[in-house]
Amino acid sequence: MRLKPKFDKFNAFIFDCDGTLWIGKKPIPGALEAISRLRELGKIVLYATNNSTLSRKGYLAKVRRLGFAAEIQEIYCSSYVAARLMANLGVRDVFPVGEKGLIEELMQAGLRLMGLESDETADGVVVGLDRHLTYRKLQCAFRHVLKGALFVATNRDATLPAEDGPVPGAGAIVAALETALGRGVDIIAGKPSPYLFIEAMKEWGLNDSEVLVIGDRLDTDIEGAKRAHLASALVFTGVTRPTDTSFSRVKPDYVLYTLLEMFE
Ligand SMILES: [Mg+2]
Repeated sequence: MRLKPKFDKFNAFIFDCDGTLWIGKKPIPGALEAISRLRELGKIVLYATNNSTLSRKGYLAKVRRLGFAAEIQEIYCSSYVAARLMANLGVRDVFPVGEKGLIEELMQAGLRLMGLESDETADGVVVGLDRHLTYRKLQCAFRHVLKGALFVATNRDATLPAEDGPVPGAGAIVAALETALGRGVDIIAGKPSPYLFIEAMKEWGLNDSEVLVIGDRLDTDIEGAKRAHLASALVFTGVTRPTDTSFSRVKPDYVLYTLLEMFE
């Protein structure tokens, strides 16, 4: 089965995950088939997620567990991209507020991690979702930024879905620090910032005309694609309803009721 010409012109397809490929622990109908067809056609398939609790390796296991074929270099999570951004900006010593996946990526990027007991000043603070957050961690992060550390967020998602309903996301922790500091964060790695997409394009040697971003959220996926100057498709399998698009300032280039609509 072929792609419709308006989609066949793209060589790389960057997918949002939650609400686009799966919901909770279930693949969305048509998603597995769409991904395997794209791969059979020789297209590049990449996964882009604001999730910061897992490393690339951890997220790869999750993607595969859900039944999607993937390789580690196809995974772009905010933990990985935040670590890359900090390393590229010359940060050496980092104080992290986050979980194991973020810590793994910071170490992979060659950054030195600072603990709660350290007397030295970090030159970077990175904040992701941390379900073991303590006041002491917040205080430490706050002090490092006051002394001049670069203040990086993996993402600022207000909430994230959980089995029993939404829970506070990384954005809630970022906001707590911003309130204390009286200023905003310096860099946000995740969507709607363009960095997940920019890092993917850099590593895969892609130019902007050959990439299509596909996601279920106007304010993150589609907005992020615009900021990276990429074409975008909004899919109605997640949080956005067809009626929402007419009120939005952000307009996707394509809309899809299911991913299989890309095929003839
Ligand atoms: Mg989504």
